[in-house]
Amino acid sequence: MSDRPKVSIVIPLYNEEESLRELHTRIADVCDKENLSREILFVDDGSTDKSLRVLRELREKDSTIRIFSFRRNNGKSAALQTAFSRVRGDFIITMDADLQDDPQEIPALIAKLEEGNDLVSGWKRKRHDPISKTLPSKFFNFVTGFLSGLRLHDFNCGLKGYRREVVENLDVYGELHRFLPVLAHKQGFRVSEIPVQHHARKYGKTKFGIERFLSGFLDLITVIYLTGYLRKPLHLFGSLGLMAILLGLAINVYLVVGWIQRIWIGNRPLLFLGVLLMVVGVQFFSFGLLAEMLTRQEEKSREYSLKLDTDVEKD
Ligand code: UDP
Ligand code: MG
Repeated sequence: MSDRPKVSIVIPLYNEEESLRELHTRIADVCDKENLSREILFVDDGSTDKSLRVLRELREKDSTIRIFSFRRNNGKSAALQTAFSRVRGDFIITMDADLQDDPQEIPALIAKLEEGNDLVSGWKRKRHDPISKTLPSKFFNFVTGFLSGLRLHDFNCGLKGYRREVVENLDVYGELHRFLPVLAHKQGFRVSEIPVQHHARKYGKTKFGIERFLSGFLDLITVIYLTGYLRKPLHLFGSLGLMAILLGLAINVYLVVGWIQRIWIGNRPLLFLGVLLMVVGVQFFSFGLLAEMLTRQEEKSREYSLKLDTDVEKD
């Protein structure tokens, strides 16, 4: 095997012992048929079944396999990041270990990358999952697309292709694996998608259950933050605050005019509204100002990602 394989296939897995042999055979078949030099990185995310033993067996027969194993379950994002900082291929393909993603799609993903895209995301056009998954997922995709300005049908597909430059620049932690296209898009990488085959889960069970609903809400906040809405807090809170102040001021001026004309204003609900609006407005405004100061500090230390060949001094 040459030092640099063309493609690195990255597979995070957590208790998927039944699927691994079949998955490996199918990946190897596709790569052999297409003459793709490869390495396969399996990241065992603290499995408690026989996954790791199966992987070691597979590696005996296939030297392109590299295994990384966490001592405990750290999550899919951590698994991906671990592989991303170690890949050697020009192109990176990620896929789930449960055979829901089809290795047959690897050549199509690479072709799309070679067209000049930096990240190509799979789109499970015909999805084989229960409605309790597909419905929240539709909502998630819509909101993420709306807030990020990146229109994809399917942000959270396990099957994706990347140029190595992209994964070197990504920092995946927490639950960020759901937003990889957004993160890449924000750094200025070219992101696109292709429809891919999707299969029902054959063995084992999904690792993302009902708690997904809860984390969905928190994810939403993550997207809002990631997509830069909170990078200009004064624009949001300042304008809200100013509007409230002006409205309150108008009401109070109107009441003062009445007071000068000796119209009794102390028992008018409008007075309370006017005062309330002004107080809330000032609070909004100062909150925005504070948030802006905090953001400034953060922005100062922000690193922007550069194109690979631009690190050359020019005079
Ligand atoms: N996975 C992982 N760590 C986890 C949870 C899941 O590495 O903590 C892997 C899992 O083994 C699978 C992939 O991430 O290869 C996608 O998980 P799953 O199939 O359960 O998600 P779903 O397809 O139901 O969205
Ligand atoms: Mg799955």
